[in-house]
Amino acid sequence: MEHLIDTRSFTIDEIEDLYLLAYKYKSGEYDRTLANKMIITIFFENSTRTRSSFEIAAKNLGANVVSLDIATSSSNKGETLYDTAANLDAMHPDAIIVRHKNAGVPSLLSKYVNCPILNAGDGAYAHPTQALLDMFTIREFLGDDLKGKKIAMVGDIKNSRVANSNIELLSRFGLDITLVAPPHFLPPHTTLKTSHDIKEVISDMDIVMSLRTQTERHTTQIYASLKDYGSDFCITKKLVADRDIILLHPGPVHRNIDIDDEMLADVRSKVLNQVSNGVFIRMAVLEMLINS
Ligand code: ASP
Repeated sequence: MEHLIDTRSFTIDEIEDLYLLAYKYKSGEYDRTLANKMIITIFFENSTRTRSSFEIAAKNLGANVVSLDIATSSSNKGETLYDTAANLDAMHPDAIIVRHKNAGVPSLLSKYVNCPILNAGDGAYAHPTQALLDMFTIREFLGDDLKGKKIAMVGDIKNSRVANSNIELLSRFGLDITLVAPPHFLPPHTTLKTSHDIKEVISDMDIVMSLRTQTERHTTQIYASLKDYGSDFCITKKLVADRDIILLHPGPVHRNIDIDDEMLADVRSKVLNQVSNGVFIRMAVLEMLINS
């Protein structure tokens, strides 16, 4: 049984196969290959894009989707995660998609169920489908061979599961990563290049990935306001100027703090391309894990 717990769950060859399938789906070539399959989504943490993207992906391939509403589910009545998993498993789903605020929950659940578990984000640990769709989007604009391409990840790297998954995946495919953040947003023992000043490094970059400040994971307030952070790290049109870069962000964007209005609307901003590609990537992941 294969699960998608983090980006390491897939080898390079599996990722290439996944991308071939996603390209095929993107060209409109797909069928109801998941008809009669039942997929459960269980999101213990808020989500707009990821949950709807997974649900649209599953439905595009003809699957039945049951979305558990956590607010009204029994986990709110004190049921343990183990019991929730055992009970869901007893209904024989073909896959369970889970998001949780605690790192490690998808991995734990995978030990108690008889179907693939797909991690839709766990704490600050991993968000594998986001990283897979990010690299797919980068390839769409910069070509398939990304070796040596330079990317700046800007923002709250330490608390970001998106950064964590992208660091693993993009390093494996040979990208040259620079982490750009104030000292308290950098991971403590990173071996990657770091900078505290986006202005110093942007001229070298092919890709800029802006990340949201993960205030929900901060135990103490670091900035007096997000505006203070934005004044140093916001990706503005003035900063980017006429540079030949592409700009990514996993969403939700803090407007004029992560990216300014003008840059978000710029043709070099690929934020909505990421959202569109997310559906094809998730279709491919579901197909691969359920049908092969
Ligand atoms: N949507 C992404 C996540 O779930 C990024 C974010 O929330 O900042 O991690």
